Amino acid sequence: MERIHCCQIAGSAPECAPEGDAIGSIKSYVSRRRTKEIPEATENDIMSSIVFCIHHKEGCKWSDQLRRLKGHLQTCKHDATPCTNLCGAQIPRVLMEDHLKYTCPLRRTRCEFCGQDLSGSDMESHSGCCPLEPIYCENKCGHKLQRRQLAKHKTNECTKRLVSCRYCLLQYVADTLPTHQAKCSRAPVPCPNRCELTSLPREELESHLKDHCGSMLNACPFKEAGCRFKGLRGASLERHLEESSQQHLVLMCTVVSRQQNQITSLKNALIKMSINYSGTLIWKVTDFTAKLAEARSKDGMELISPPFYTSQFGYKLQASLFLNGNGTGENSHVSIYIKILPGDYDALLRWPFAHSVAFTLFDQSEKACNIVESFVPDPTWENFQRPSKEPDSLGFGFPRFVSHETLKKRQYIKDDTMYVRIKVDPSKIVAV
Ligand SMILES: [Zn+2]
Ligand SMILES: [Zn+2]
Ligand SMILES: [Zn+2]
Ligand SMILES: [Zn+2]
Ligand SMILES: [Zn+2]
Ligand SMILES: [Zn+2]
Ligand SMILES: [Zn+2]
Repeated sequence: MERIHCCQIAGSAPECAPEGDAIGSIKSYVSRRRTKEIPEATENDIMSSIVFCIHHKEGCKWSDQLRRLKGHLQTCKHDATPCTNLCGAQIPRVLMEDHLKYTCPLRRTRCEFCGQDLSGSDMESHSGCCPLEPIYCENKCGHKLQRRQLAKHKTNECTKRLVSCRYCLLQYVADTLPTHQAKCSRAPVPCPNRCELTSLPREELESHLKDHCGSMLNACPFKEAGCRFKGLRGASLERHLEESSQQHLVLMCTVVSRQQNQITSLKNALIKMSINYSGTLIWKVTDFTAKLAEARSKDGMELISPPFYTSQFGYKLQASLFLNGNGTGENSHVSIYIKILPGDYDALLRWPFAHSVAFTLFDQSEKACNIVESFVPDPTWENFQRPSKEPDSLGFGFPRFVSHETLKKRQYIKDDTMYVRIKVDPSKIVAV
């Protein structure tokens, strides 16, 4: 005979019906049989069918005639029976031992921490609040202690509890408090001068030392000038100032002359850095009117240009202007001259100086009409020999460079400013 699953017998039950329904299906079959809907021979056949246990899927290997199924279920390990503790739960026989031991609410059990004898349900509420259970401090300080001691630990001992600094009253984690207090602005510190004040808040120390400490030795105000005196604030320092004014004056004079030297050497360095080595100087003469007036009232008043070099290692030159004229140009013209100054590279240069020099007065109007005068040096003239010292001679140039009449025309003077270019022809440079 073919083995069929018990739930397939009823025919009326859907294929996917839960297996627990099989018994019910059998019952309904039997009741229908009694009402003679089904012939007797068929009932016998059916009851003889070989079926699996309804707990086949849970692992029961039993298989036999259908009529023996009910008997099997009385002992089937997978079939549920009421808890023997009478807690009301239906538990498969295989799980009963576990249930009685661990999950039955009516089981008896003992708390492993306090030793109390408890029912299963009491145990469930007891676990997680047993006062003797050791647990870790919630502040993560690393301490493990009994639950009943935790509150005291957290308020009094825990290294991660919040405590107030007794000086500034702000809150800090307990184990960082010493670090904080080492720099707390309100923590007391002693005066380093051991004055009558034994301690004061750290933030007040600076002003105490500066303004109030009676034991503070103050340096003489002429310390920067070199005075080494130190005295107590008040009388002693004042006496020193009175007694040492002569000495302080000497110190200050030394400072002044030292600074003077520094200024001079800075000035020299600045001149060296700003000196022009291009061979072309554009000379800006400002306040022309005032300067011309001064030249008219002062005999021989000469404007001197900044010195410049014809090239980096070339001749050192300087131009000069007589706004009220000089020589043949006096009172009627502007005169312009160039002279050779002793330069740093004279020993390596060729003498006499032989470059052509051009002077240009710029017309500052849009359609410029510049005035240009130039010359080629006469090698026999002594002004073009190597200068031995700062020359007091005029140099070489044009006493009648431009007349005062011409100056008034066009825009040679604009915004009271005049521009003159002095250009040395580089093609004739003979420097080594
Ligand atoms: Zn079974
Ligand atoms: Zn139970
Ligand atoms: Zn306990
Ligand atoms: Zn703690
Ligand atoms: Zn503090
Ligand atoms: Zn003090
Ligand atoms: Zn002094």
